[in-house]
Amino acid sequence: SPPSPRPPELQLHDVFIAVKTTRAFHRSRLELLLDTWVSRTREQVTRSHLVVTNCSAEHSHPALSCKMAAEFDAFLASGLRWFCHVDDDNYLNPRALLKLLKSFPWTRDVYIGRPSLNRPIHASEPQPNNRTRLVQFWFATGGAGFCINRKLALKMAPWASGPRFVDTSALIRLPDDCTVGYIVECKLGGHLQPSPLFHSHLETLQLLGAAQLPKQVTLSYGVFEGKLNVIKLHGPFSPEEDSSRFRSLHCLLYPDTPWCPQLVAR
Ligand code: UDP
Ligand code: MN
Repeated sequence: SPPSPRPPELQLHDVFIAVKTTRAFHRSRLELLLDTWVSRTREQVTRSHLVVTNCSAEHSHPALSCKMAAEFDAFLASGLRWFCHVDDDNYLNPRALLKLLKSFPWTRDVYIGRPSLNRPIHASEPQPNNRTRLVQFWFATGGAGFCINRKLALKMAPWASGPRFVDTSALIRLPDDCTVGYIVECKLGGHLQPSPLFHSHLETLQLLGAAQLPKQVTLSYGVFEGKLNVIKLHGPFSPEEDSSRFRSLHCLLYPDTPWCPQLVAR
């Protein structure tokens, strides 16, 4: 058969962005995202609208894997070119994301994110006759966000679509983000492409220089050992008004936002 034609240049509307959340966080976390970066990607995030899962509302491996499965299935059904997952405490910079995704040749399988550990994780994979096989693989921290292109996602479907994602996760007894890495590396022989542009609140976010902030694909905020772990950014909002710093970051990236203090030219 003839080679498939090169697809048109990637645009933001080719990217499926899934935000994992739970009812308890709709006020405290989701509103902030809707006011900030989601407002610039409304089409991508809300294309398939809110998917209310039947997943239990708890912070357990099966419940969170159930949500990842729902995200993955919604992506497969969307027909879009890229799947990106983030948590509801991530800021996603759409311009930086698009720039990154455009850098990959469309013929490749891509799984990109921040490696969770500085070494591969080990898991035991049950085998027939009560045996187990020790496997190791890299995975991207779910809390920093990650992306997978459609070519790779289609290959993952036998382990990741419908009820199979939860089954795969239960098999290796690891959380949803590890399960993604396991499927890509151990089942398909693929590799996590590490990127320093994805960030979770497991790292010290204030170490990022102000000039670097606009280039990052994802950022986050959280509490670590009783202290706020946030990016370091001067204004326009005070830490009291904007403890996550996401509103200040958003005004830096999109100064024309109506609620951002407007700079008056003199
Ligand atoms: N989450 C969820 N159900 C829960 C608790 C958390 O779906 O019962 C989601 C939450 O909305 C977030 C992700 O799981 O997108 C990670 O939760 P959180 O940031 O609270 O915990 P972390 O794992 O980062 O410490
Ligand atoms: Mn978190």
